Amino acid sequence: MSNGAPDPPAEAWQRGAGPGPLLEAVPAREMALGVLSIRRLLPAPKRRLVGAWCFLDAFGPLAFDQGKPMEVPPHPHVGLQTVTWLLDGEVLHKDSLGCEELARPGTLNLMTSGRGIAHSEETPSRHSGRLEGLQLWVALPDAARHVEPSFEHHAGLPVVESPGLRATVVLGSLAGVRSPGRALSPIVGADLIVEPGVAAALPLDPAFEHAALLLRGAGSVAGAPLEPATLLYLGVGRAELPVRAAPDVPLRMLLIGGAPFGETVLMWWNFVARTADEIREARDDWQAGRRFGEVKAYAGARLDAPPFVSRGGGGARSS
Ligand code: MN
Repeated sequence: MSNGAPDPPAEAWQRGAGPGPLLEAVPAREMALGVLSIRRLLPAPKRRLVGAWCFLDAFGPLAFDQGKPMEVPPHPHVGLQTVTWLLDGEVLHKDSLGCEELARPGTLNLMTSGRGIAHSEETPSRHSGRLEGLQLWVALPDAARHVEPSFEHHAGLPVVESPGLRATVVLGSLAGVRSPGRALSPIVGADLIVEPGVAAALPLDPAFEHAALLLRGAGSVAGAPLEPATLLYLGVGRAELPVRAAPDVPLRMLLIGGAPFGETVLMWWNFVARTADEIREARDDWQAGRRFGEVKAYAGARLDAPPFVSRGGGGARSS
């Protein structure tokens, strides 16, 4: 899903977590993939990672009666997991392992690229005419980033409940409740719904850094109002998350977090790596038809990688 706006040149970062609990507003960059509006929350200039979460796009809402608002031809990934989480509509995933799975609201499509995988994402021919959702990437820690690729689809994810609050645990664990999705670092991703006027507090892992994103309605986190198209970074060291919904409307929000990643990450196009050489090799392998396999179920041409230009890399150019 990042292909609407690739992010070359390659950029490395190692951003430690804040010194403690913070409230830092990270505004989205607005962009478009055809008729689909996208808000890119991560990476942002001042906030590259939240735990191992290294990419977060919110797209839609969109109502359509013709065409395919989402049509991302086969493209490769290395060193990451992709999480597709829909609020409305459908996205059909096809990959080079032969997996084909429809993402719908409430179901998790989780792809672990490991050393390499290719996939496509598209609006299916039979659809609701609506589309709204999130696309996230999780950087794989060094020990896990060369694992064999895999794909998982999970429905009926576990829920943390308290009066007036319902948190679906999408990835990792929250308040002792664990998603069945494969997590390769200490992490949490959850979709919270808080009833109008309700104030609640969710237990957090104080070793994690966290961030919150307004999905629908209105409300606040730790006393700070959630603004549209803005990621609210919360820092580390919070043992609980105070959330409050507006009096007249439910609050729906995404919570992401994890142990501060602590590894220098190099991110270029659809690759998460550590060195420019790794990026160049992954690009060359994709262009030459090696490593990633073929998305045989996809009707159409695959994506070409953009030219690789390494920042300050001294000759890391590819023609
Ligand atoms: Mn992708």
